[in-house]
Amino acid sequence: MRVDLSDTVDVLKANFDIRNVSLPDLKAKAKREAQEYARRRDAEHGCISCPTTYQEPGYWHGGHYLKAETHSGVMLDDMNIHKQCKRCNIDLDGNKEGFRKGLIERHGSEYVTILEERGEATRRYKWDREELIEAAAKYRRLNNFMRNN
Ligand SMILES: [Zn+2]
Repeated sequence: MRVDLSDTVDVLKANFDIRNVSLPDLKAKAKREAQEYARRRDAEHGCISCPTTYQEPGYWHGGHYLKAETHSGVMLDDMNIHKQCKRCNIDLDGNKEGFRKGLIERHGSEYVTILEERGEATRRYKWDREELIEAAAKYRRLNNFMRNN
């Protein structure tokens, strides 16, 4: 299914004077929307990288398998972001080993190979404002859809 995002992009553009919003702020906004999307998509699952299903407000994060700081190209790639517990994401610094194991269990090893290759190929990718706004719009649209269904 293809979702027409043009209206959401227009709304976001109307709300953002992109000349006045810094690139890091746009990046943070797009990232927050992508992370919310991953948490909603994975609502039925526990943590991607450990066995916990513990429930507490704020306990669930949208964790990156390949970190945005080292693999900028997959920062907003939904394959790279999964619902993850706070302990794995913060205390265990992403729990990469558990994350990899969880991805293979849930999606298969080919998924991880594709993601790792894509991550390596786009390690130093530089996002521009338009791309960040479009990514934020895409995930916002999906989040609104999931919130209402
Ligand atoms: Zn965990």
